[in-house]
Amino acid sequence: MRPARVVVLGGGSDGVYTALRLERLVAKGAPVDVSLVNRENYLVFQPMLAEVVARDVRLLDTVSPVRQLLRRTRLFVREIEGVDLDRRVVMLAAGLSPRKQELAFDHLVVALGSVTDFRGVPGLPEHALPFKTLADAVRIRNHVIHVLEQSSVELDPDLRRTMLTFVVAGGGFSGTEVAAALNDFVRRAVRDYRSIPQDDVRIILVHGGTSVLERELASRLATYATTALAEQGIELRLGERLVAASPRSAGAVGRAADPDSHAHLKRAVLAEPRPLEQLGLPTARVRLQCEATCWAPEDMSPGAPEHGQVELHRALLRAICGSDGSVT
Ligand SMILES: Cc1cc2nc3c(=O)[nH]c(=O)nc-3n(C[C@H](O)[C@H](O)[C@H](O)COP(=O)(O)OP(=O)(O)OC[C@H]3O[C@@H](n4cnc5c(N)ncnc54)[C@H](O)[C@@H]3O)c2cc1C
Repeated sequence: MRPARVVVLGGGSDGVYTALRLERLVAKGAPVDVSLVNRENYLVFQPMLAEVVARDVRLLDTVSPVRQLLRRTRLFVREIEGVDLDRRVVMLAAGLSPRKQELAFDHLVVALGSVTDFRGVPGLPEHALPFKTLADAVRIRNHVIHVLEQSSVELDPDLRRTMLTFVVAGGGFSGTEVAAALNDFVRRAVRDYRSIPQDDVRIILVHGGTSVLERELASRLATYATTALAEQGIELRLGERLVAASPRSAGAVGRAADPDSHAHLKRAVLAEPRPLEQLGLPTARVRLQCEATCWAPEDMSPGAPEHGQVELHRALLRAICGSDGSVT
């Protein structure tokens, strides 16, 4: 009998943990052939990206090589260009050689994560920096260093204050963490610049809710985090959201854009859309319309409710081998 071909799209935590679970089946002798496609050959531990911005963690300490994590999975480091559900093939972009590739599957796991969405806020695409990938974290860190250097020789005090004002949008995990990391890093680094008045530094966190992390944590912890940020000197704009951005300003809802502040924007919200439509996958309200051969983890990250991951894996394993993991 031909092994069941499972193709996992995406090498984030969802994709890698799905492949690991399947590898356990393979180790028990199940006839399963696992492939994983990802842009990079490494898995990034995203909760540590803020520490990369703050230089508290070295770049390479946030990544793990997928090849070492997945010994029984075929890894394709390629851009996924499309999926043909009728033919049951995934189309991969050309790599160093100009030849495109197709991967046939019996079961497809779609774990492509989300992309930062700047749509709907004028000025954000041009003037904001996203914060999701390792490259984003490095770019933000380099940008901050560049800004410190430039403001140290800036003679116009108003412009210098503008340059040293950082706005973070979104008080979820990534926004809160990057605001705290920026605050630590910039206030620490600015001591080395004698020409910069330390009071010129402002870190502003704009968040639509009443406390940061209110969707992620219990209310007691969310309140604690909100108070801790304020005590560290972060200006919290709660109950507001960004509505516009320009090279020198960011407008929050209910407030006019303030030309003397808000020079740098970090949009840290992980938002829709997921890139499914671009791959030709059927969606409804940006969610994948699954069929029997197509599986999509909702969110199997370490912080997500465990049953999401477990239920998906059980269903997938049942479909492949008729049981939820114990192979006979
Ligand atoms: C800064 C930050 C901090 C966070 N902190 C926490 C935290 O403390 N606790 C918590 O629970 N969660 C946290 N999260 C959220 C958590 O990291 C995500 O929920 C989790 O990473 C989702 O994993 P995923 O595998 O679904 O997606 P991703 O990690 O986004 O992985 C998707 C993968 O698919 C690849 N891909 C996408 N499209 C293509 C394509 N066309 N071709 C090839 N490859 C493609 C991408 O390159 C990527 O490697 C944080 C997220 C960020 C960004």
